[in-house]
This record gives sequence, C-alpha cells and structure tokens, in this order.
Amino acid sequence: MNARSTPLTGGFSRRGACPALSAPMRTGDGLLVRLNPVAGRLSPAQLAGLCDAADIHGNGIIEVTARGSIQIRGLTEGSAPLFAQAVDRLRISVRTGVPVQTGVLAGLDPQEIANPIGLADMIRTGIADAGLEGLLGPKVSVVVDGGGLSALDEVSADVRLTAMDSAGWQVAIAGDAHTARALGLAADDSEACQAALGLLSDLAAMGREARARDLNTGSLPARTSTLAVADPRDKPEDEGSSGSSLIGTTDLRNNQVALGVALPFGHATANAMKIFAESAASIDIDDIRPAPGRALMAICRTRDAAQILSGTAETLDFVTTPNDRRLSISACPGAPGCASGHIPSRQMAAEIANDLSSLFDGSVHLHVSGCAKGCAHPAKATLTLVGSAAGTGLILNGTARDVPLAFSNSDSAGRAFANLGKRVATQRQDNETMAQAVQRIGVSALADAFGQGSR
Ligand code: SF4
Repeated sequence: MNARSTPLTGGFSRRGACPALSAPMRTGDGLLVRLNPVAGRLSPAQLAGLCDAADIHGNGIIEVTARGSIQIRGLTEGSAPLFAQAVDRLRISVRTGVPVQTGVLAGLDPQEIANPIGLADMIRTGIADAGLEGLLGPKVSVVVDGGGLSALDEVSADVRLTAMDSAGWQVAIAGDAHTARALGLAADDSEACQAALGLLSDLAAMGREARARDLNTGSLPARTSTLAVADPRDKPEDEGSSGSSLIGTTDLRNNQVALGVALPFGHATANAMKIFAESAASIDIDDIRPAPGRALMAICRTRDAAQILSGTAETLDFVTTPNDRRLSISACPGAPGCASGHIPSRQMAAEIANDLSSLFDGSVHLHVSGCAKGCAHPAKATLTLVGSAAGTGLILNGTARDVPLAFSNSDSAGRAFANLGKRVATQRQDNETMAQAVQRIGVSALADAFGQGSR
C-alpha cells in the first residue's frame, strides 16, 4: 500500500475524510487542514492571526477552496496540534460534523428568495438530536440555498434544499443545482427540515460509506410522501452561480456593500493575506467571509471602504474583476510544494493566463494538475494539462485521471500549450466561442498542435 493512502491513526484522518482541524490529512506536501468558521466569517484580526499561524506552523500559504473552506498545508505531526491551539487562541470556532452550507451572503442579499439561516440551524440541531453525526459518512453534506446572488448552484451536496419562487423549498438529492434529482416540494421550513432529516436517517441506516446517490429510488416516496411533486417549471432561474459572479462590489441590505475578491488559483501567501486583513481593519471592516469560488467576501459599511480594500487586493495581485482570466484556470500546488507533483502547476497556470489571454473568453476552463489525482478540479475541464512521469499530458473534455491525447516534455509544455492556444485563436470562426472552436477543431488537430509546439 502506498504510504500516502495508508489510513492514519492517532487523530489524523484517513483519505476521503474531511481534513478537519482535529484530524489533518496527509498529502504530498505534509499535513493539510481545512476549516470553516462556525460564524461563517472572521474578523480581520482573526484572519491576520491565522496568517501568522500558517506561516509559523505550515508552509506559509493560505488557500480558499472551491467550496469556500480555508485550507492550510505543510503542517507536520508536531506542528498541527500547535496550529490547532493557535486557532483556539484566536477564538475561531470551527465547524465540525455534517456541513450544512448556506450562501455566503445569506440574510444580507436583497435578491435572496428566502433566508436559509433558520432552516440550516434547524437541520444542524436535528442532526445532533437524532445522533446522526457519527452514523453518516465524512463526505455527506447538506446545502440550504436561499437563491439570489450567492446561490450555491455549483456546490454539490447529498441533500439540497432550494428556495422556490412559489414559496417553500425544493428537496433534491445527490448533485449540484444542475444535476441533483428533485424529489418534491416542502411547503415551509419545518417540512423541509423533516424531509432533510428523513433522507439523512435513510443514509445513516445504510452505513458510513453510503451517499445520497446510493439511496434506493424505491424508498424515496415513503420518506417524501408528504411533499408535493416537484414541477420542473418551479426551478428558480439561475441568478448567478457561486463563482465569479460575486467578484467586485455588491449592494446589500442595510446599505452595506460586499466586496468579493478571489485568490489567484485559490491561494495567497500568508504575508499577502495578512496585508489584506490589516487593510480591512484600518477602514473599520469587521467581517470577512471565505466564499465558494476560492474567494473572500468583505462586508463593508460603505462603497468607499469597498473601493479602498479592492485597491489593496489589486496591489496584492488578487482577482478583483469577474473577467480576470485566472478565474478560468484551476491549478493545484504541483511541484515542488507537493511531493506528488510532476510539474509546477500554479506557476504554469500563471504564465498561461499571462501569455494566452485570447483563449480565455469565459467559455474555456483549463485545469493544470501536478499529477493525475486532479485535486484542484475533480470535474471535467475543456482542456487539462497533467504532469506525469511520461511528461505533461494534454486531455480534452476530461479529468486529470483520463488518458492524455499527447505528451510534451515538461520543459516545453508551456510552449506546446501556447501553440495549441494560437491554433484555436486563429481558427476560431466569427460566430464561435473559444470552447466551441476547441470542439470543432477536434482531438487530432489539437494533439498535433500541442506536439508540434513541444519540438
Ligand atoms: S493533483 Fe496536485 S496537489 Fe494533488 S496530489 Fe497531485 S500534484 Fe499534489
């Protein structure tokens, strides 16, 4: 058995479990912890303290994940408990147990269909009261999506409750807003809570490996018999997903303004993040929220404050506009930070974003992965560059685990991809997006362009 997949003992988690503060996960670059503040937000002083702790005990990098969790890497078995103590001293209570996620602007968003906070609290209490916690698998999650600007369309969950225009909540399982299977409609919070807890109980009865996709379709009507049948026409219109749509300023209730910034490829140095936190503190901002889409939302009292903080973020090279090309690229740490990495993924991603601006018109997603594990983007991407012992592989419409179409020597992979990008840009027809051009040009011509560029 590979050392990295060996189940860990002594408080360290096995692979697949949530790498919480008390149970770090071993990765290619040491131990990793993922934390979510119970309050959903941090004060600037807490964020600055977290940066110091990441610098002292970890590898000096802070990440925000696609689901909006804070991630610290490079901890050791000796430093991880010290990091946990530092988090305690900062009085950051971290969420444990089954995640019940709401939108980052829940309760503040004027476009929200329903405030999900009360229902999410009812579900958390219900899980605890029913003793479901230890019976459910570590990856089981619930989304309570109130809709509006911070809708959680792209966030996958075992149980999804989505606020409906026609009042009540749609109950669905196993997927994101586009892929989950709708089971029915709950008229109010109480009925929605009952439905969610019923589904979680069914899952718990099937054992800790069970996920909502494994639920026997025959058993669902019994649990949801009190729900009205879902009508596909009731599905709320997409009002923006949880990704790039919140980058920039957003007007909130009570005349507040949210500033959304994303971390380039989901990471920043602890030093840069601390400067951001201190800048926020200096202009009286006291609420910074990690957000889906590898972002941070600062809740500002005035538009002027939001603009000042945006200026700081820009000088730190954070993503401050929704059309920033870096939002179209996912990249893991790669080499040398991660021992499994064959290529310097984030460095390559930054160079590609810089050199190939015309390719990223918003339709193409590029994934640069240090190895076939594909940590940064488990889903399919338009184009994937993956490091391997055989060189850098090119994959079209797949994941980092798929078999590459062509390889380049890793030293010339940047040049090879630039050649491919130029081929797409020059052959794109007037009525096409870049993604449509990639599909039309096709596998063999793109593999050929990639191969030629690497010579
Ligand atoms: S995908 Fe990247 S971060 Fe994940 S194990 Fe491979 S190199 Fe490391």
